[in-house]
Amino acid sequence: NFGNVGFIGLGNMGSRMAKNLVKAGYNVAVHDINGDAMKIFAGFGVPTKKTPFEVAEESDVIVTMLPSSSHVFDVYTGPNGLLHGGNLLRPWLLIDSSTIDPQTSRKISALVSNCTLNGKRDGGGVPMMLDAPVSGGVLAAEAGSLTFMVGGSEEAYLTAKPLLLAMGKSTIYCGGAGNGSAAKICNNLAMAVSMLGVSEALALGQSLGIAASVLTRVFNSSSARCWSSDAYNPVPGVMEGVPSSRNYEGGFATKLMAKDLNLAKSSAEEVGVKCPLTFEAQDIYSGLCKDGHESKDFSCVFRHYYSGIDE
Ligand code: NAD
Repeated sequence: NFGNVGFIGLGNMGSRMAKNLVKAGYNVAVHDINGDAMKIFAGFGVPTKKTPFEVAEESDVIVTMLPSSSHVFDVYTGPNGLLHGGNLLRPWLLIDSSTIDPQTSRKISALVSNCTLNGKRDGGGVPMMLDAPVSGGVLAAEAGSLTFMVGGSEEAYLTAKPLLLAMGKSTIYCGGAGNGSAAKICNNLAMAVSMLGVSEALALGQSLGIAASVLTRVFNSSSARCWSSDAYNPVPGVMEGVPSSRNYEGGFATKLMAKDLNLAKSSAEEVGVKCPLTFEAQDIYSGLCKDGHESKDFSCVFRHYYSGIDE
């Protein structure tokens, strides 16, 4: 029994995730700094709260879905933040699903584990914190088919699983605090670089006289096969139903990819690991944003860096 669930961050992803919790029968209260986002929930009869602290005062479980590390840090530690009441907390489970850097996830998890429960949960003790970012975009959030990659204690993960499955179709336990965030940024870094590799190879192939559709068939039956070639091909006309077939509309925005690569870059610097392709990819995707393509799907990198050549 999760009791009252507080949901903070009602943007493209969070609004859909919170709606799925309401649909599943949870008692949800919400907060967002954007009043219009809250009005929609008030219209369904969902209580709205003015600050994260007000949410914490009345919730047993908290879910946050915010843009980036600084927003999550503010919502936890800022004036009227979740932890504003000092070291006594009512919520016994706090789940952050935002994509942020693992170092910030670990910092917040440590702050939470210094708190004591003032609630009525059996056993009392220390509140539990999970970093649980998601794979899958707005459509998966709407359909309740997200994948959660989760860091924190295994006990917290097992306890939270039914709640996560009201918003998603699968969960993967990744280990201790921050490991969910680490998994998410590493996944997106691999996806960014594989998209660049496939785009570059398909462009070179076309210049050498082989059609992208034929070369894609070769890749997909050979060792170059990957998600960017067989499920999300970046060349217009090669696959139906992917962003490249509709002028790179929808999908995963280039600005979100640039943001996630920035997280990977700063994490790499912090732990002293050389990641030359991460830096190169971040340059390329942030260049696309500067050129005004920030809202296009990230596979538009093919058109802007490599094409000019028709099938
Ligand atoms: P979004 O910008 O649409 O929504 C963020 C929401 O947080 C907004 O409603 C904003 O008003 C609110 N907010 C910002 N600061 C706040 C604060 N201090 N207090 C309360 N509310 C605040 O972002 P999104 O697309 O929903 O993404 C959320 C997170 O999920 C990001 O970390 C993103 O990287 C990640 N993500 C997004 C996608 C996607 O396809 N959109 C996919 C996977 C993961």
